[in-house]
Amino acid sequence: MQMSYDIEAIRADFPILSRKIYDRYPLVYLDNAATTQKPRQVVEAMVNEYYNANANVHRGVHFLSQRATDLHEESREAVRRFLGARSASEIVFTRGTTESINLIASCFGDESMEDGDEVILSEMEHHSNIVPWQLLQRRKDIRLRPIPIDERGELRMDVFETMFTPKTKLVSVTHVSNVLGTLNPVAEIIRIAHSHGVPVLVDGAQSSPHLPVNVREMDCDFFALSGHKVYGPTGIGVLYGKEEWLDRLPPYMGGGEMIKSVSFERTTFSDLPYKFEAGTPDYIASTGLAAALRYVSSIGMEAIRQYEQSLTQYAVECLSEIKGLRIFGKPREREAVLSFQVGGIHHLDMGTLLDRLGIAVRTGHHCAEPLMRRLGVEGTCRASFALYNTREEVDRLADAIRRVQEMFA
Ligand code: PLP
Repeated sequence: MQMSYDIEAIRADFPILSRKIYDRYPLVYLDNAATTQKPRQVVEAMVNEYYNANANVHRGVHFLSQRATDLHEESREAVRRFLGARSASEIVFTRGTTESINLIASCFGDESMEDGDEVILSEMEHHSNIVPWQLLQRRKDIRLRPIPIDERGELRMDVFETMFTPKTKLVSVTHVSNVLGTLNPVAEIIRIAHSHGVPVLVDGAQSSPHLPVNVREMDCDFFALSGHKVYGPTGIGVLYGKEEWLDRLPPYMGGGEMIKSVSFERTTFSDLPYKFEAGTPDYIASTGLAAALRYVSSIGMEAIRQYEQSLTQYAVECLSEIKGLRIFGKPREREAVLSFQVGGIHHLDMGTLLDRLGIAVRTGHHCAEPLMRRLGVEGTCRASFALYNTREEVDRLADAIRRVQEMFA
């Protein structure tokens, strides 16, 4: 079924998209994998809470505190629905994907790992799914075992299947690569891992903005996302965890909100999900995140996916026509990310000159240095798309790349 939406009406929801860059060029924002722009609906929901319902949550008997608490818990329910989780107690608010993965590395590492144990990752992980495990290595002598990728930029599933040992305690992989755009076969990964009795964490930072996610159908044990990548505010993210797992894990941070009772001798902890939410939560940001999830859900994640798939395909075609341009990876299923390099032009020069023409792309290692090493480059230029980008913007990107090429010729 062909789905579509009114792109002009959508763009009108994002005030920043109509601004000019250097007082001259209409903005072409293609840095969406780093962060997305925010629709009015998100900003207004947050302003409205500050103006009308601001008070600290969970602790107050007064009207405003109860209103703020209701909004915060309604937001948790909105996340539960968005992810298809069974219960709102499986939804932990964090500061973002990075904090969600650090929480698991720390708590799962403490509870379920011993010296000699192994975590399977992949060669295409973001640093936030590598470094937390290395921090754990300071406390426990664990091994990180990356699944290799092939020439297309896809995971070597044949190798993955052979990587399990009695020491394998967790598989932690990205759903979508932030560099290659590869959509990884997470359902298959989870099926294989579970057949070895091993739980799976899915880094959903780059999938949650682009495709329908259902954690129950996927059957992942943990799922992480960042609010700001899915049109929500900065400073808020989510850790989904199956209740039986979250129940087993110890708290991450200590403080207010996460306790039942405290004495100098002994403290007991709150029930899920509050056990993992020490201190005042960012209840304004949770309201913004819920507004963002309502926004994308009203368009429909399937419609967003179809639109972005067609746009990304168009971008692959347009950029492939440019002489000397190399696109990294050729995954059979690519989400809205394209990394490229143009002849001998340094990615930083390319990015800087594209910016002078009003086009925002990202340059560098994209927090994936091991992947850069695997690709044999120091960095790339990356264009990443969102639900509001257009074919005209892709044309402007292609024209601008050609102009930069001419400058270097
Ligand atoms: N994982 C992936 C695949 C990402 O692309 C990113 C951010 O770019 C992250 C994790 C980290 O997200 P955040 O900085 O919002 O915590």
